[in-house]
Amino acid sequence: MYRRNIFHILLPLALCLGVFTTYHLFVKDLSPATPEAPAPVVDSAPSPSIPIVSQAPARPTDEELKQARAIDPAVIPDTPSSQLLEAVRDEIERKNFTVAERRLANLPPSLLSDAKAKPYIAILWNNLGLEQERIDGTKASVKAFKKAAALDSANPVIQLNLAHAYWELRDPALNQDFLTALTSLAPNEPFPHLAMADLLYDQDHLTEAAAHLAEATERAGKDPRVQSYLAAVTAKVRHTDAVESRMHARNSAHFMVKYDGAEDHGTWTTVLEILEEAYRDIGQRFSHFPAKPIVVVLHTKDTFQSATGSPAWADGLYDPVLGRIQIPTQGATTDTQWLTHVLRHEYVHALLHDRLEGQITSLPVWLNEGLAMQLAGDPWPDLDQAMPNGGSVIHLKYLEGGWGQLPQNAATLAYLEANSATHYLIERFGMSRVAELLNAFKAKATVATALQDKIFLSYDQFHQQWLDTFLHKHS
Ligand SMILES: [Zn+2]
Repeated sequence: MYRRNIFHILLPLALCLGVFTTYHLFVKDLSPATPEAPAPVVDSAPSPSIPIVSQAPARPTDEELKQARAIDPAVIPDTPSSQLLEAVRDEIERKNFTVAERRLANLPPSLLSDAKAKPYIAILWNNLGLEQERIDGTKASVKAFKKAAALDSANPVIQLNLAHAYWELRDPALNQDFLTALTSLAPNEPFPHLAMADLLYDQDHLTEAAAHLAEATERAGKDPRVQSYLAAVTAKVRHTDAVESRMHARNSAHFMVKYDGAEDHGTWTTVLEILEEAYRDIGQRFSHFPAKPIVVVLHTKDTFQSATGSPAWADGLYDPVLGRIQIPTQGATTDTQWLTHVLRHEYVHALLHDRLEGQITSLPVWLNEGLAMQLAGDPWPDLDQAMPNGGSVIHLKYLEGGWGQLPQNAATLAYLEANSATHYLIERFGMSRVAELLNAFKAKATVATALQDKIFLSYDQFHQQWLDTFLHKHS
């Protein structure tokens, strides 16, 4: 039924936006005789929503954000114990890091209080930390950076290295006091401003966040890619700030709901009840609860598109840059059943984003959407019901990137497949294995590696086994 070569259409697509279609529309789409569907409409029937993750400008990697980080240890300060320091330096150069760390930890107190020796010992800890990070990652290096930073609070390179380590570990020690001190210590660095903006929009202080992002953009001249990313995010935060500044906000234990237009306590209450229920219910199934309150913005139907920059047919999306669920509503007239599906679906995207701690791009879209559909209880039909005569499926490996530009019938198939493959994954391997897969993606594993390591199947084997169960149901 489906063209076999459908994946040729999919390959060049990299954008990711949400689309929404009704049950009727996508059932019609599955028939090849049906002409192109018109722009989807929201009707009052229980409808499977396909709102997805909004497009994010590619965030610079941690490596791109880091500036020159090693400090030349050539000149050893002239102290009575300089040969001790020289010995440590040589151990680091010979890559005997365990020995170097032991020697550093056992330096005599007299040397540690020597004003000339202290900054040099800080450099040695710093350089040891960089080596440990290279070999074993940030968790292994943060202790050395902390030692270095404590010994020399005035060295900007050392303080920046500690800040990067805190950032990668999401350590609450990267707080506003620390960052304020860092901005005056390293006034030309973009990173402290970027980190400050992150803290500020977590607290929903968008105006201040935008100001710091602008500062970061100005200072990112060394790297055009970082600069254009920052400029894009600055514009986005400013726009969001302008849109949301006139909104009302109301908090529950785990959410902040912003409402566009006249105060409508009825809708607020309904939305918060749905969200708190999703928090408990999906959190338990998924064994994860977000660390921070999640912002949910309710737009009126006619402002949703301009506020979120989404296409006319988008209907609800999760914005990973600002960490917001965005939903169009029609006040008290909004269909509660529809609202429940969309909110729960978007909540899973938000939960996955929190769970992966910023590594959301490692998660294949088919699994991101599939989990949202499975955990939200979206009322989609099974793939085999939707394709009663068989037909070609798209290999999951072509459904890893964004789906925003898919033609509607291909998008529908993509969602059906995501739902079906994720259902198979959960049924066959259990949620605990799914959790292990997520851990692998958090550690930046590829899909093939994650599947091989966590469920002991190659990508093709997994795909074939899923397809076999699907085809068996047919025969
Ligand atoms: Zn989605």
